Amino acid sequence: MENEKELRELADLMFPNVNKTIEDYEKMYPERNLEDGARVTRFAPSPTGFVHMGSLLSAFESCKAARDTNGIFYLRIEDTDQKRSVENGIVGILNDLKNFDIIPDEGMINEYESIGSYGPYIQSERKEIYHTFCKYLVLKGLAYPCFCKEEELNETREIQEINKERIGYYGSFAKCRSLTTKEAIQKIKDGEEYVVRLKSPGNFNNKIVLHDEVRGDIEFPENDLDIVLIKSTDKLPTYHFAHLVDDHLMRTTHITRGEEWIASFPIHDQLFSIFNFKKPKYAHLGLVMKIDENGVRRKLSKRKDKEASVEYYHKEGIPKEAVKLYLMTIANSNFEEWLDNNPDKDISEFKFDFKKISASGTLFDVNKLFNISKNYLSRLKATEIYDNLLTYTKEFDQEFYDILKNNKEYATLIFNIERESVKPRKDYISYSDIKNHVWYMFDEYFTNLTYDFVKITNKEEIKTIIETYVDKYLDLSDKDIWFNKIKEMCDTLGYASNMKDYKKNPEAYKGSVADVSTVLRVALTTKTNTPDLYEIMKLLGDSKIKERFIKCINA
Ligand code: GLU
Repeated sequence: MENEKELRELADLMFPNVNKTIEDYEKMYPERNLEDGARVTRFAPSPTGFVHMGSLLSAFESCKAARDTNGIFYLRIEDTDQKRSVENGIVGILNDLKNFDIIPDEGMINEYESIGSYGPYIQSERKEIYHTFCKYLVLKGLAYPCFCKEEELNETREIQEINKERIGYYGSFAKCRSLTTKEAIQKIKDGEEYVVRLKSPGNFNNKIVLHDEVRGDIEFPENDLDIVLIKSTDKLPTYHFAHLVDDHLMRTTHITRGEEWIASFPIHDQLFSIFNFKKPKYAHLGLVMKIDENGVRRKLSKRKDKEASVEYYHKEGIPKEAVKLYLMTIANSNFEEWLDNNPDKDISEFKFDFKKISASGTLFDVNKLFNISKNYLSRLKATEIYDNLLTYTKEFDQEFYDILKNNKEYATLIFNIERESVKPRKDYISYSDIKNHVWYMFDEYFTNLTYDFVKITNKEEIKTIIETYVDKYLDLSDKDIWFNKIKEMCDTLGYASNMKDYKKNPEAYKGSVADVSTVLRVALTTKTNTPDLYEIMKLLGDSKIKERFIKCINA
């Protein structure tokens, strides 16, 4: 009885401003009214302003897991480590997510505002809630103030290292655990700094089995660490305590987070047990790796690898649909097969499964993503390419945007070359890459040219070919007629009009029809490899063709 009074005094001293109870919060944030099996998931980044590929994958999976079940996916900002906050950090994250259609149902919508009735969705504004929960523990004698200074903790650690003992604040090493309530009260009254620690009820020698959605059952020793719940300086919670309070009150059902949290899994399980709260399910995700230039498998690094930053895809103009297809491919091992069997179905019809996540980590292969992107872009209509490219260039290439805007029909026809067919041409990797493939079609870019004719390099010969073509064969009314004329020209000029004849007896000719076409192609585009030359010529039209030929001869 005496101790109860003392604990009350201690708790009031530690948390003088708490005037609510846990029950009050339970009422404010009731169980969600969702259909059976609906998942409530979240993305919980620090406000660092950007999203790394690993986090995007995690957010993508959480979002998909909720969407599949008509659940809720929300964004919670974890800013208890204020060192990691940057200006406009939330907006940056939201933009990165939005670029891939990951739009939370609840949570922060800018630096200051949120939507949803389970907020605040930013931890620094939830202090009072954490303190209420922590005060409860102090009242129950399940948490205590710890006054140990940094030097004392370091000393303990050194002793543990020397004696080859487990590192940490536990058992007899947990000095402040044995302070009497009276002593603790006195120290606080004397103005000593303190953190609040859990009085862990666990025994390290007991084994527990915890279930991970990705890895299955994992055996751990029970937690006996008196972990810090509330920090001393800003009185904000640690990750462990915030996770308990937030994910309980926001009624999260599935926690998707990095594997670096596996080691603390027993701590979190213990916290939920102490409060007798319903435990969420956990999916711990492996690292996102890559094989680097030297063939070494290593972590995808935001410092070293441009493909690790999510902004990169947006800036490069890799279509978000392609990124999403790729994310789904690396998220669930059965997705590719599903897609092969259901080529016309939307990704939203695929059912995400935590159990189909690779436990050993994910290999990120940017070239595979580029291939998906190439395939995706090849299947779009020319008008879609035009519209999307317009949006892209508006943000990233104003000059090209103006050109496209003023030449809608022409540009669309260019994009339509070898498109909308059973085997469409697959050359655009991204929206930024399109210009590399079409620039020569626009006079604005057809300047400062270098012609590389590869085989027929003699200037006089090139001139003869071009002049003969312009004089006699400039007729683009029909592709077959046009090609026959080119062949006829070859015969006249001493080139083999038939490849077979040429291969049989190359000495008899100056070259072949392919070499003659290359001269025309290079003269008109400077490139040896382009889509169909006839289509290109048709689009350029007679006068531009002549102009370019003259330009080439005079170069
Ligand atoms: N803020 C934590 C992190 O970025 C969140 C982990 C979690 O999702 O629980 O690692």
